Amino acid sequence: MALDALDRFLAVGERWGAPFVQLTTRANLQVRALPDPVPDEAVAAVMATGWFPSASHERARNILRDPLASHLQPVVDALDETLCATPELASLPGRFLFLVTDASGVALDQPWDLAWRRMADGSGQVLARGPQGVFCRPCAPVRAPEVLTGLAARFLGIRVERQWNVRDLGPDSDFFSELTATTISPAEPLRPGPVAGSDALIAGLPLGLLDRTALDALRAVTDQVTLTPWRSLLVPGGAAHTEALTAAGLSTAPAQVWSHLSACTGAPWCANGQADVMGLARESARLVQREGRALARNVHLVACERRCGAQDGELVLLSPTDVTDAVGVADALTEGHR
Ligand code: SF4
Repeated sequence: MALDALDRFLAVGERWGAPFVQLTTRANLQVRALPDPVPDEAVAAVMATGWFPSASHERARNILRDPLASHLQPVVDALDETLCATPELASLPGRFLFLVTDASGVALDQPWDLAWRRMADGSGQVLARGPQGVFCRPCAPVRAPEVLTGLAARFLGIRVERQWNVRDLGPDSDFFSELTATTISPAEPLRPGPVAGSDALIAGLPLGLLDRTALDALRAVTDQVTLTPWRSLLVPGGAAHTEALTAAGLSTAPAQVWSHLSACTGAPWCANGQADVMGLARESARLVQREGRALARNVHLVACERRCGAQDGELVLLSPTDVTDAVGVADALTEGHR
């Protein structure tokens, strides 16, 4: 993604809402705290970014790619084009997620519904995540868009009310009848730090937030970044600039507190928020850093029962029910969980 486009989203937030853009765990960008109704001028500014090519299919264009596999972008582009050209797929639930990855298995840990995976020998396979496991069938690269969109249409034809994802279908659903049960081995999430064998850096965004300071620091390094589903950016050439990027507030090493701590938007930027969980996270991060405490687990703070952004393997704490102060969060992050 061009930093110029990120800048334009940030400018919308700075003028009409929160002075940051927020990266979600689906590698989407959110501009928060816009007035309701959103001013026409703000809508026009967002549309002018060029990131919304299909008014009818905007909520269905949820395609995640392994951030390290830029060679698979043509498959993503072809899938996006086929998706947008299929009218019935406009009604795919917003939670439905496509993944394009390769033999490394990067991003297979994410909550995708349908995936296409390029194998080491150049062949490919389609994967579907069912309620009790993963199913597959061979699929050549050139057929991936057609097969994935065909399966998505099949899901729409079979699903009943409140079935938002393929995993919501029953285990005996016809959907899986032409697929074979398989097992997968997802790669570890990409952690902040240099990318082996390249000059790139995974730079974590504390709380998933990108503000003007961070954007200016990135501009000194590159004009393009790739968004990841781990609240981070792949920064080409970034490995030689870790000091400057760290100084700008980005997380550049796996042992840093922001590689283990996250929060939903919460109050005051989300109307449902019962607590300022981002403020609580910042305070607890300062406490952990000041005391040099060893990090023991990943913690995600949420400010209401919707639990936005929670991922598998994290300790999710609701504030103010589970945790009320920075000491409690710091204890949860380190060995002293109460
Ligand atoms: S979990 Fe609740 S408070 Fe937090 S962002 Fe989601 S809706 Fe808002």
